[in-house]
Amino acid sequence: MTEARPVNFGAGPSALPESVLEEACKGLFNFKGTGIGIAEISHRSKEFTSLVADLDNNIRTQLGVPPTHKIIFTQGGGTGQFSAVVLNLLARHRLLHPDLSDEQRVLDYVITGSWSKKAMEEAKRLGGGSVHIAVDARAKSKDSKSYDNIPAHEDFDFSADPALIYYCENETVDGVQFSNDVQSPASFPFHLLPAGGLWPLVADYSSSFMSRKIPRIADHAVIFAGAQKNIGPAGLTILIVRQDCIVDVDAAAKLGAVPVPITMSYKTNADAGSLYNTPSTLSIYIAGLVLERSKKLGGVEYFESVNGRKAQKVYTALQEGEEKGVYRSKVKEGSGSWMNVVFDVLGDNAESKFLAGAEALGMKALKGHRSVGGIRISLYNAITEEQTDRIVAYLKDFPTQIS
Ligand code: PMP
Repeated sequence: MTEARPVNFGAGPSALPESVLEEACKGLFNFKGTGIGIAEISHRSKEFTSLVADLDNNIRTQLGVPPTHKIIFTQGGGTGQFSAVVLNLLARHRLLHPDLSDEQRVLDYVITGSWSKKAMEEAKRLGGGSVHIAVDARAKSKDSKSYDNIPAHEDFDFSADPALIYYCENETVDGVQFSNDVQSPASFPFHLLPAGGLWPLVADYSSSFMSRKIPRIADHAVIFAGAQKNIGPAGLTILIVRQDCIVDVDAAAKLGAVPVPITMSYKTNADAGSLYNTPSTLSIYIAGLVLERSKKLGGVEYFESVNGRKAQKVYTALQEGEEKGVYRSKVKEGSGSWMNVVFDVLGDNAESKFLAGAEALGMKALKGHRSVGGIRISLYNAITEEQTDRIVAYLKDFPTQIS
């Protein structure tokens, strides 16, 4: 099967491991020996509920999720969480500080790309608090309008007692990513967070979840991720929520907080073990297969080292091509994402030649996001080192083809 299928470098939904697809085909017909397919079986069946427990356990052990945090499976994608985190954390803030005005309920946003900007716009749209931009990467970019960098620590400005502090760990569209090394200048500046601990720190991990360790995981209030990059099909959204952020949203609404739609309430979902209403059963099943496979391979540590090597190889080839005047990275050195490498191919028609040449070699879905153009190579967990070597060889060969 491997030979026949092209390599899918798409940004999401994206490639899944072949062994998982083969296993999932069987489960579609007969799930866990029940004779009923996974897309047909009740989410209340013991076979399915044990699958949910296994998935929870796999995430908890591989990522080192502490007992202070619950894992919740829900739907609505990253975009659903742009709204849900605001509503749940405004409710928490209301319960902690019932007498503040909406203007005094501050929501801090770190803007490093298209997704964090969208999340911030949703907070403004929902109201109930006032948005404060803790930093905007565009101010530090080459042309004052691109998301091409992770700002330096001294550029961040956090509020004293915000309802939430929001950042996006990896901006898929723009190709910038916070460093995984807390000492790095491109890391999230934990040391600048306001005094008092128990920060309402929210991180969008949609595009890098399970691809490497999460630094200071215990210091996060909410971590969320859509499944469709590293772990499964679209339709499943995974949350890691600290228990003090799982609050009675109806009690908060009685004090004047914005009411929270029932499917977005963290407490409703947590109390029901993620089965308040019908979950995305097929996505949960396939995510379970993916994480069983990753456990056998060595978990997140294994992927961290493989993904680090993959990124290193691609960035090195890109750099060589830059020196030849063929490519231009869209991102400043040191801010580049491991998961999504974005660049331009310089010269008339060069980009379409690049894409056509890749396609002819069986490498697909390399066109950049419509808002930024250029090329985007997504290197999620299912992309093997061997497949990465194929795109690296092409990145090195292409300059000789057009010179
Ligand atoms: N955040 C990030 C970092 C993303 O990459 C995406 C989707 N590609 C989203 C949020 C939005 O997710 P969804 O389409 O699942 O709503």
